[in-house]
Amino acid sequence: MNRIEIVKLISILVIVAVMITSGLQLYQHRHYQMPVVAGPGVTRVVKLSNYSKRLKGTMAETSVFYLEGKEEGGKMLIMANTHSNEPAAILASLIFLENAIVDKGTLIIIPQFNNSASRNTRPGDGYPLFFEIATEWGSKKFRMGNRDASPLDQWPDPDVYVHYPDRQLLSFIDARNTNRTWPGRASGPLMERVTYGAMQIMREEKVDIAIDVHGAETMFPVTNCIVAPEKSMRIATMTTLTVKAREGFDSHVEPSPSGFRGLSHREIGDHSDTLPFLLEAPIPFLDQPTGPKTVELLLDGKDPFLLSLSKKRKLFVPYDETGWPMDKRVGQHCSVILEITRQFSRKSPDRGIKIRNVPRYVEVIKNGVGHYFHNPDEAKKADVYYN
Ligand SMILES: [Zn+2]
Repeated sequence: MNRIEIVKLISILVIVAVMITSGLQLYQHRHYQMPVVAGPGVTRVVKLSNYSKRLKGTMAETSVFYLEGKEEGGKMLIMANTHSNEPAAILASLIFLENAIVDKGTLIIIPQFNNSASRNTRPGDGYPLFFEIATEWGSKKFRMGNRDASPLDQWPDPDVYVHYPDRQLLSFIDARNTNRTWPGRASGPLMERVTYGAMQIMREEKVDIAIDVHGAETMFPVTNCIVAPEKSMRIATMTTLTVKAREGFDSHVEPSPSGFRGLSHREIGDHSDTLPFLLEAPIPFLDQPTGPKTVELLLDGKDPFLLSLSKKRKLFVPYDETGWPMDKRVGQHCSVILEITRQFSRKSPDRGIKIRNVPRYVEVIKNGVGHYFHNPDEAKKADVYYN
């Protein structure tokens, strides 16, 4: 073997070693199963494929948790991880799932709405693969996902995504974005089968309220808000005014544009009797001009570049040295969801929904998000679900 051959051989070995090491990390991320402890309110757990048959056996299959009260009433659906890189949503949904007791009506929770996206990442942006939330019994580990489903599950992308049924032309990447594929089709592309499944839950179960929980950049005007179409506007406005007056935080109302198709807050309302709401809490991690995309930035929202932009009035939310911590974002989501429920129940008492044992904004900030998660090792095996 001459010197050139030795250099070639070493180069190949180095490349193979890098591929195996990085490939293994991505494999572990895609296949990590996060335990969720079903709380005292959970009465049954089904799969989304019960409502959308062609999801069965795919990586987009996901669990649907029912919390049914003894007294008949209205029904509310909470969806988190529509965008799996906006994790305040799944954290808030798990606080409900692990703690809520429903006295009247039914609460339906889909914590990993885009399950495929939660198993995807964005290597070009240097996303962390996992993040951990400190609890009193150790830390709870979550996959950090992406905005779009994994191309391993839905591929190839079209040149242009033609929205169903309006035929509006959307970006090719939106074919994998479950906030553009509403209302979906039973036999459409995989992500349309996901949104179709949720539409079927709303139609078959006669769901009154659907809440799609998100996070948005601080430099994007549609942040820290409730997006609502005309039919949900009154409840959204009352919710905004009440949380501001009683709990002291802002969450303004944004009207759902009628000409922009495929979004939950538009299509759910247009294709069912359900009242849709989309919640946005600020997530500095998603802003473009930040430092490295670290777990710390994801959790505390502190960034020197955003701080300097804030001083130049370039952000759409107040921003100082304290950043925008995860507890605050999750607390906002919990309070806004509870307040929407209360406002709806006041307006339609026969379809009322009564939920207790879920903390509001101040309590989540005081105790921390991790306080509300239960140790899967100490729970009954039958109560632990892997997502
Ligand atoms: Zn989002």
